Amino acid sequence: MSNLKPCPFCGSEASLHDGATKDACCCTNSKCLLFARLLYIPLWNARPFEDKQAEQIERLKSENQWLTELNRLLISESNQIMAAIDATNAKMKVVQPQKGEE
Ligand SMILES: [Zn+2]
Repeated sequence: MSNLKPCPFCGSEASLHDGATKDACCCTNSKCLLFARLLYIPLWNARPFEDKQAEQIERLKSENQWLTELNRLLISESNQIMAAIDATNAKMKVVQPQKGEE
């Protein structure tokens, strides 16, 4: 496995272990808690909180896209209604003086 995520504590690069434990890695930052401390790679790469956040972000992006489209449709509908009202008002203005003259 070569797709190592950055260190979950400090964000530094991870280093694969060359010894007998091939499926372990550690942090390359000498000041980090996980420096030279081997961790099983699937555990190293497990980021349940970040994964859940990424899912939530994708869901919110999808909702935002849907709401943006809905907003566009409502504005279009509103513009059509306002145009119909303006056309009706224009006809009424023409009609009203004729009634007043009679
Ligand atoms: Zn680290």
